[in-house]
Amino acid sequence: MAEKEFTQEEEQHIQEQFEVIVDAYLERQAKGAATRFAGESQAMHEERTQQNVELIRRAFAFANQAHYGVRRLSGEPYILHPIAVATIVVKEIGLGSTSICAALLHDVVEDTDYTTEDIQRLFGDKIALIVDGLTKISGGVFGSQASEQAENFRKLLLTMSDDIRVVLVKIADRLHNMRTLSAQPKEKQHKIAGETQYIYAPLAHRLGLFPIKSELENLSFKYEHPDTYKEIEEKLASIRSVQEASYETFAQPIRDQLAKMGYEYTMTARFKSVYSVYRKMRDKNIPFENVYDLMAVRIIFKPHEGLSEKDQCWMVYSAITEIYRPHPERIRDWISTPKANGYEALHITVMAPNGQWIEVQIRTERMHEIAERGLAAHWKYKTGERGENELDKWLRTIKEILENPEPNAIEFLDTFKLNLFAHEVFVFTPGGDIKTMPQGSTALDLAFMLHSQLGEHCIGAKINHELQPMSYVLKGGDQVEIMTSNSQHPQPEWLNMVTTAKALACLRQYFRREERALIRNGEKLFNDALMMYNATDSHDMALQRTLNYYRLTQPNDLYLQIGKGTIRLDNLQQVAFPKSKKSLWKRLNPFSKDEENKTQEAIPAEAPKRIKKIVLTDDALGRDYMLADCCHPIPGDEVLGYVDEKGMVHIHMIDCPEALKLKSSHGKQICAATWNTHRVQSFVEHIEIRGIDKFGVLSKVIAIVSTEFHINLREIHITSEDGIIRGTMDVYVYDRRELEDLFKALTAMPEIVSAHKAVDKS
Ligand code: MN
Repeated sequence: MAEKEFTQEEEQHIQEQFEVIVDAYLERQAKGAATRFAGESQAMHEERTQQNVELIRRAFAFANQAHYGVRRLSGEPYILHPIAVATIVVKEIGLGSTSICAALLHDVVEDTDYTTEDIQRLFGDKIALIVDGLTKISGGVFGSQASEQAENFRKLLLTMSDDIRVVLVKIADRLHNMRTLSAQPKEKQHKIAGETQYIYAPLAHRLGLFPIKSELENLSFKYEHPDTYKEIEEKLASIRSVQEASYETFAQPIRDQLAKMGYEYTMTARFKSVYSVYRKMRDKNIPFENVYDLMAVRIIFKPHEGLSEKDQCWMVYSAITEIYRPHPERIRDWISTPKANGYEALHITVMAPNGQWIEVQIRTERMHEIAERGLAAHWKYKTGERGENELDKWLRTIKEILENPEPNAIEFLDTFKLNLFAHEVFVFTPGGDIKTMPQGSTALDLAFMLHSQLGEHCIGAKINHELQPMSYVLKGGDQVEIMTSNSQHPQPEWLNMVTTAKALACLRQYFRREERALIRNGEKLFNDALMMYNATDSHDMALQRTLNYYRLTQPNDLYLQIGKGTIRLDNLQQVAFPKSKKSLWKRLNPFSKDEENKTQEAIPAEAPKRIKKIVLTDDALGRDYMLADCCHPIPGDEVLGYVDEKGMVHIHMIDCPEALKLKSSHGKQICAATWNTHRVQSFVEHIEIRGIDKFGVLSKVIAIVSTEFHINLREIHITSEDGIIRGTMDVYVYDRRELEDLFKALTAMPEIVSAHKAVDKS
């Protein structure tokens, strides 16, 4: 087919573009020791480089013939796309031959008849793994099959945790697609731009690829808001020459100073991208004219031997602030504490001669390379001098999340994204260690970050020595001590108290584990109950009838509800064996009520309000409680209460047969009761307590008040929020001393933090 063939000019162009890759790779390798393996001699390094160039040539030849004759929408030969991606990979991200080959081959499996196995056979496991990781995510993150795409994205990240280069090549692929987006139809432009903004730009940011992140954002914005983009772009162009002139005036004295210090350096003016100008206008709600920091200055210097980079950055800082006045509140020291993505630099803002504040970024060459090339550069310099850095930790977190995959891919994507957007706050452990947490993290997030066990048993935290609930949102510089209790376990509402992917994953995993245990237990209870009937009907039929009765389809849903206690089995006989006459269940449960009632009760209903204890006073009789007719308790008798649906408490003697029956069948509706009609009180005091919600704390408080002090409680209100309880009590006391003694006894409990007289009674 003649029209499929390329012209001679095109063939030549393809070859030239490919040679750019080889040149860039050789240049990278020539940079010396940085690309050399440990213990590798110069000769060995050169030989390996040559072999790699051969491999790159083979990959190109293979891709070139596989895509031969195919053109992109723009009309140019398809192979120019993989070539461009490989160029980005080597030149802009700084990766080596494996990634270059993978980039050249990245669309072969997707778009031609070749398979991953072919790639593996011809180019080995590593390259095949990367190509495979890239092949799985065709299409995009969104689209009609949103969840399938999310699942694909998860697969990409899964491969990433084995080999981060997968995602780096993917970002290069996306960058080239964005650069050539104008060839796509409008609706596709929107889809691709949206998806870039949603996941790829944050991902690039997280991996420390700042220039790529900015370009992705800027291009996305250009296609999503073309008019606004054009407007800002024109305004920027109109003031550019004025800015450049003012930069020269500003820069000269600094240049002189740096020269005096004997530094080799480059100093450049950095102009804000259209997108970041737009974002500033939007976030601060200001017009273009009020965006002042359109320009920043960047100094990249080669540090002298024998002095730490940190010291030298501060020496440069000192030299600049000799010339220009610094803004006292705008110093960003990313050297002492690098950002989580590895970024290091010293940012200061000084006043220029024209009275404008200008940001100056001070970096060494090494810091600059990390800033530009992110992860790739980080690898290069990772020689164990500092152990695991923030980026390693982040990758480890991602890996942990991936090892406990979310059943729902969209949910996964959202939690993953949460961590991408994160800005960090630094907090301190009691031992003085610094922990980096995403902004908005709670004390509970931190607990899970430190250890999943710490998270699961968290009851609160001491923030700067003050007790706070676990939902406390961490602020920079907080000193945090996580408090735990062995009796504490995660509750579903905890899901609303965490934002980090790690904590969410731990909690979801805990609930799934717990749910499985409930299901197993429920299944056992159900099967045991069925066995008691010894019925002729099969197990399966009985199960089916029970499912039908509760309008459930899955046995596990039934077992779960039985396990949770929301479906009770005391009417199982009527449900599972409606025809059988003889009620063994009835014989085994002599206290069970008649059948119609039972059927009604079996429908899961909201649990009645819990009353833990009732104090029997004369004025409450008939209003809050009734004395049972069966046993006629009188004051002084040992009694208990049964709370009915209306909240009325029926008081029975503790050994009344009716009470025994209620205890065994409605245990949750039983409350403790004490008499209070035989004592004379002097006055009522309104007191407040505050503490940690631990199992049994309320009964301990009540025990101290009533048993130890024989003080009568007239009223008690306890609220528990996020593991912190706040309570008010009305107590009858004789005098102040008795009250003070009570406070002492209460605060002596480890769980109670404060007890005092309430200021005013509301
Ligand atoms: Mn591609």
